[in-house]
Amino acid sequence: MTDGTSPDLPARSRLVVLAGPTAVGKGTVAAAVRASHPEVWISVSATTRPPRPGEIDGVHYRFVPDEEFDRMIADDDLLEWAVVHKAARYGTPRGPVMEALAAGRPAMLEIDLQGARQVRETMPQALFVFLKPPSWEELVRRLIGRGTESEEERARRLATAREEMAAEKEFDVTIVNHEVHDAAEQLVGLMVLDHEHPPNNL
Ligand code: 5GP
Repeated sequence: MTDGTSPDLPARSRLVVLAGPTAVGKGTVAAAVRASHPEVWISVSATTRPPRPGEIDGVHYRFVPDEEFDRMIADDDLLEWAVVHKAARYGTPRGPVMEALAAGRPAMLEIDLQGARQVRETMPQALFVFLKPPSWEELVRRLIGRGTESEEERARRLATAREEMAAEKEFDVTIVNHEVHDAAEQLVGLMVLDHEHPPNNL
C-alpha cells in the first residue's frame, strides 16, 4: 500500500487499526498516544469482562452485561466484536467511530487480531498496523513472566502467540515495540492529523 509519492511508505490514513500478539503492549502504546496526542480519537470498546481496579466505565471500556452486548450485536451497533482469551466479549461501537471520522478526526482502534480481520472486511481504507515485540524471546518473557500459570496454560499461550505472530503479513505496516514512546510516535506518524481541529476544540 503506497500513497503514490513515496513507494516505500504506506499511505497515511485517518483510521488506524492497531493489533498484535497478546502481551506485546498494545494498550500501553495506545495510552501513550492518548497522553501525548489528545487530537487523536481512540475508540472505547464495549466488553463483558468486569472492570479491574482503577478502570473507569466509559473511559477504559464500556463495561456491559451479556444481555446488553447481545443487544448491541442484534442492533448491528458494533463495527466488529470477538471473544478474547476464551473469556469475555469485546467490541467496537460503530457510531462513535463514524462520528469521529465524519468530524475529520484521526481515529484509532486498539483491538485483537480477530477484530482487525473483521474491520479489514468492512473498512479496507483503514491502515492496519501490527505491533511486534523486539524478539520472540521478549514476547515469551512478557507472556509467561509472572510464572503463575500451569505448564498447560503456558503451552497454550505460547501456541496462541506463535499463531498471532504469523498474522504480521496480513498488515500494512509493522511497528516494533522497542520503546513505548517511540512506538507511539511512529504510530501517530502514520495518521492524517487535522490541524484545523486543535485538541481544545474536541
Ligand atoms: P484486556 O482485557 O486486557 O483489557 O484486553 C484483552 C484484549 O482484548 C486485548 O488484546 C485487546 O486488544 C482486546 N480488545 C480490546 N477491545 C477490543 C475490541 O473492541 N474488539 C476486539 N476484537 N478486541 C478488543
